[in-house]
Amino acid sequence: MSTPTAPLLKVENLVKHFPIRGGLLGREVDRVYAVDGVSFELAAGETLGVVGESGCGKSTTGRCILRLIEPTSGTVTFDGRSVTGADKQQLRALAREMQIVFQDPYASLNPRMTVGAIVGEALTIHRLTRTAREYEDRIVQLLETVGLAADHMRRYPHEFSGGQRQRIGIARALAVSPRLLVCDEAVSALDVSIQAQVINLLEDLRGPLGLSYVFIAHDLSVVEHISHRVAVMYLGRIVEIAPSRSLYTDPRHPYTEALLAAVPIPDPRVKRKKVHLQGDVPSPIHPPPGCHFHTRCPLAQTEQCRLERPPLKPVGEPGSGHWVACHLR
Ligand code: SF4
Repeated sequence: MSTPTAPLLKVENLVKHFPIRGGLLGREVDRVYAVDGVSFELAAGETLGVVGESGCGKSTTGRCILRLIEPTSGTVTFDGRSVTGADKQQLRALAREMQIVFQDPYASLNPRMTVGAIVGEALTIHRLTRTAREYEDRIVQLLETVGLAADHMRRYPHEFSGGQRQRIGIARALAVSPRLLVCDEAVSALDVSIQAQVINLLEDLRGPLGLSYVFIAHDLSVVEHISHRVAVMYLGRIVEIAPSRSLYTDPRHPYTEALLAAVPIPDPRVKRKKVHLQGDVPSPIHPPPGCHFHTRCPLAQTEQCRLERPPLKPVGEPGSGHWVACHLR
């Protein structure tokens, strides 16, 4: 068991490169630098939002944490146990404590299985119930936990709306009573009002079920209300990580400023700095050297920006937990 002060999840210098193979011999001809040295910690009961544009490596990071994708290097530790060094049996035990909710509830639910069978699959795999009665009771309890009804267990995924399907995905993840949920763009495919309902559900479940979340989204507005801290990723790296309030009111990285500038503010008295980014995100196959952001950065670009990777360094009040990777901030 970890001490109360130890993080629940510790990710250190995580790297994932996907080889691109070509030619008759299938030799590696290039590689995609999907995750390029990501480190962060998550406390028990905490929600960390992870945001960035498509292709920034946030989903790959989430999947590497659970080893659904094998990381190239780096370490992941969960409650003091090595995830990256775990063998098959240890990984199976860890899978009971760390679960994922996927983006697309349409694709992630088997259309030929009833909702009861989908939610109950993990109960069978991990032998979590002893009798048929216990199995059925647990499925009903899980469905009711996510706001569905007992009789939904006999229906099929196509009979449900997008929001309801995502609730089924959450019930399935909760079946093993995990302590960590990686929500990989879990609300991105839903309408805004349904997004809010699912986010509220997740927030309501966190305390009573003792959950912690890594909440991955491409939009800062989505993670604002659920996250204690937010990490902003750009081309495989965390460029800023801070407590939510600090990040939203006092962003330090020009990329975070640009993402925030795109978020509509309901209060017209609140003014945000206008930052417009030029061009598209460069390819993760050949990311720019130095600071990956230098090709789009609206700040003065120094020689240092073009040549040296800026390390994450603390900014603001000592101990505020606000870190930024920029040579000029
Ligand atoms: Fe911009 Fe340079 Fe800071 Fe990168 S290091 S964000 S290029 S100012």
